[in-house]
Amino acid sequence: MRFTNLTRTAGIGSNCYRLDLENDSVILDCGMHPEHVGRDSTPLLENLGNNDIRSTILTHAHQDHVGCLPLLQSQHPVMPVLMTAGTARIADVMLHNSVNVMMRQQEQLSLSEPPLFGHRGVEQAARRWRTCPLERPLTLDGDRASHESQDPTVTFYDAGHILGSAGVMIRAEGKKFFYTGDVNFQDQTIQTGARFPEEPVDVLVMETTRGDAVLPDDFTRQKEEERFSTAVAAALNKGASVTIPVFALGKTQEVMALVWRMQQEKIIPATPIYVGGLSSKITAIYDSMASMVPRKLPQLHLMDAVAPYIAGSQEIQSLNPRKRAIYALSSGMMSEHTLSNIFVRKVLPDPAQYLFFVGYADPNSPAGAVRRAEQGSSIQLGEQGDTVPFNCHREEFIFSAHSRREDILNYAIKVRPKTILLVHGDQAAIEWFTRKLYEALPGTTVLSPPPGIPIEL
Ligand SMILES: [Zn+2]
Ligand SMILES: [Zn+2]
Repeated sequence: MRFTNLTRTAGIGSNCYRLDLENDSVILDCGMHPEHVGRDSTPLLENLGNNDIRSTILTHAHQDHVGCLPLLQSQHPVMPVLMTAGTARIADVMLHNSVNVMMRQQEQLSLSEPPLFGHRGVEQAARRWRTCPLERPLTLDGDRASHESQDPTVTFYDAGHILGSAGVMIRAEGKKFFYTGDVNFQDQTIQTGARFPEEPVDVLVMETTRGDAVLPDDFTRQKEEERFSTAVAAALNKGASVTIPVFALGKTQEVMALVWRMQQEKIIPATPIYVGGLSSKITAIYDSMASMVPRKLPQLHLMDAVAPYIAGSQEIQSLNPRKRAIYALSSGMMSEHTLSNIFVRKVLPDPAQYLFFVGYADPNSPAGAVRRAEQGSSIQLGEQGDTVPFNCHREEFIFSAHSRREDILNYAIKVRPKTILLVHGDQAAIEWFTRKLYEALPGTTVLSPPPGIPIEL
């Protein structure tokens, strides 16, 4: 077995990994860096050359795991791509949206290179997707494995991160290789915690997103939900609006479910909630699959129960944040030209407004800049250098879709891998895990695989 990290830069970005087995090579995830454009946003696909790739396996449909899949598939047109049914439904929407974003960027940034792929490329790619059930060994083509000892096989396990998310076990050459993808072991408002296998494995590839996130000792999700409810209620009762920059996939649906519950429990008054077009499409997929996937509140159909207003980039310009409402707008990082970036320009300067953060943001993104900013300072929200004064209320809440670090550490200790490969994390996060894992598992080799360098397992 040989593992190669194909993520172009260290950290969280264009996540993509290659696993070479005795006779087959597989690719795990094929993401796009959300803060870069063109070739810089892609994994090291040029390293694949003309090599035959047997299949690609996707853990979930977030952009940093799926974004460059059509590019990879255009280089390997007959290769099957294995994923859960939820991931397939969402990936289709995410990738078509990504084409629109790339076309807009090309115009706005006057890029000389065309978009990495178009709508037709996504349609062609989707024909090779194979939807896979959870907890059932499959061949690398996605067919049901014919007998127990078949080799190699791939098995998907619910990862509790977003709809469709999975960790992947590959059994080959008498070894067990497990890749967590993005994982959450705790329940969220909709998503139930991961159900991962607990048998010993040889190799564990694990995400480390929250390795440097220290939680208060008395932290519980329930207390955090109460703190959030109180803060939202206080703002709305003053007649103000609350703006929450969120990822269109996952966090939007979690926030909508929380708002629904607060309204049911009469903690907050009936308040209009605004979301973007992409968010509403993904929410409709959550609704249509509610009874088919592991989740809480399977009867809750958010598009009916919460009935959000759907805003495009034109409407969002005309909305007045001084009218009481909740704005759950993507992107979560407040990337330039997105709804949250446009709308927050009206929110930031106004001391009567409330801006709440509920998830991860790249420190280098506009959301990262706002989270660090001092009251009264000016913040740059785009490349053009225009700045916006920061006077509004700002509060942060911890509703991460990623596991707390102690939970992932405990999982690693439980499955006692011979080798652990740390991925999907900043330097400080990886350092914390390296230190803790060496203490807890002294016989285990712990590596942070540098981009492009093969590691023999
Ligand atoms: Zn993710
Ligand atoms: Zn990710």
